[in-house]
Amino acid sequence: MKKKLLAMLMATVMCASLFAACGSSGSAAQSAASSKSASSASGEAAEEAESGAPESAGIDSILFATNPEFPPFEFISTNGVIGEYDGIDMAIAVKIGEILGCEIEMQSLEFDSLIAAISTGQIEASIAGMTVTEERKKSVNFSTPYYTATQVMIVPEDSDITCAADMEGKRITVVQGYTGQTCVEELGYDFEAFKKGTECVMELTNGNCDVVVIDSATADKYVSDNEGLKVVEDAEVFASEEYAIAVSKDKEDLLAAINSAIEQMLEDGTIAEISAQYIDAE
Ligand code: GLN
Repeated sequence: MKKKLLAMLMATVMCASLFAACGSSGSAAQSAASSKSASSASGEAAEEAESGAPESAGIDSILFATNPEFPPFEFISTNGVIGEYDGIDMAIAVKIGEILGCEIEMQSLEFDSLIAAISTGQIEASIAGMTVTEERKKSVNFSTPYYTATQVMIVPEDSDITCAADMEGKRITVVQGYTGQTCVEELGYDFEAFKKGTECVMELTNGNCDVVVIDSATADKYVSDNEGLKVVEDAEVFASEEYAIAVSKDKEDLLAAINSAIEQMLEDGTIAEISAQYIDAE
C-alpha cells in the first residue's frame, strides 16, 4: 500500500496537466460553524517558514472549511488534530499552519456549499478531498494537487458488476455534488443522490441499491468498516482525479503561500507520511 501511495503521489507531483473528473469531457448552508482554532506558530515552525516558504509573510490565519464526512481525509473524532476534526486533510492543514507560522481555523460546511462559501468570502479556502475540475475552477483557484484518486464502485461481495458498463439498469447511489455523481451523469445512468457517503453505504448494506460510486480511498475505508462489500475498479472509465485545496480567487497571496507549503510537503515526504498513517492504519 505504501508503495502504491508513493507512486500515486509521484504521479501527482509530475503530472503537469490537471485532469477533469471522469474522462475527457472536461466538464466537469451550513451546519453549525464550529469554528475551532488549532495550531499556532511555534518557534520551530517560524524557522521552517523562513527557509521553506518566504512568500508566506503576512498570513496570520487561514479560515478553512471542510465537510467531515469523507474518511480517511476528514471525519469527526473525539481526539482530532483540529478540535474534533481528524483525517489526512486535517493533518495537512495543521502542517500548513506550522510551515506558514499561522493559525488554522476549521469550519464544517456541506460539501456542496464549499465553493459558494469561498466565492462569497465566508471562508478563504477549503480542504476537503476536493477534486480539481474545470467547472469548479470557474469559481475558485486550486492549489498544487496533493493526492491522486479515482472513482470506484462499492458493491456487495456477490455482485455481478465487474466494470462500469455493468451498472446499466442497476440501482446506483452517489453522494450529492461529488465527482462520482458527475461520472454517473456522464455515463447516462439513473442514480439516487444522498447527502453522505455513509447513507449510500447503508442503502447498499440494506439491499436498497446495487452499487455506490465514490472516491477510491473513501471506498476502501467503507469496505473495511462494513462486512460483505468489495471495491470494483474500472480505470478505463474512471479517470484519475487530483485533490487540491480550493482558495478564493481574491487571495492570490494565500494561494502562493499554500502552494509553497504543499510543494515542500510533497518533496520532503510529509504528505506521503500523513497519508500512510491514516490509510495503512486501516
Ligand atoms: N473528490 C470528490 C469531489 O471532489 C469527493 C470529495 C469529498 O467528498 N470531500 O467531489
